[in-house]
Amino acid sequence: MSSNMHVERICRFCNSKFIARTTKTQYCSHNCSRKAYKYVARQEKIEIAKVEATITGKIRTKVNFPELAGKELLTIMEASALLNITHLTLRRWIKEKRIVSSRIGKKHLIKRQHLDALIQ
Ligand SMILES: [Zn+2]
Repeated sequence: MSSNMHVERICRFCNSKFIARTTKTQYCSHNCSRKAYKYVARQEKIEIAKVEATITGKIRTKVNFPELAGKELLTIMEASALLNITHLTLRRWIKEKRIVSSRIGKKHLIKRQHLDALIQ
């Protein structure tokens, strides 16, 4: 959509002035457009990784459990994150029958009351 328009714009990536030929142009060059696209894609990936790490308990210090608060049944990952132990420790406790879990298929589910019973 090239036209005879000449609009002075500031590139959203490198902040340099350039002459835009359409009303929708945001970047001064293909290079800036490409780099901006990659930057956004990378930020999205980082966000997704952070959310996944929070759910699986890999970042335990940053876990804030608003969605776990109302859950009665917890997975191994959620329960181990709540107890601040690794999933391996929790699996060992289950094996040693220190904690009660129900196994449905391959999945262990732990009732919250059993976690609460661990901590008097
Ligand atoms: Zn630029």
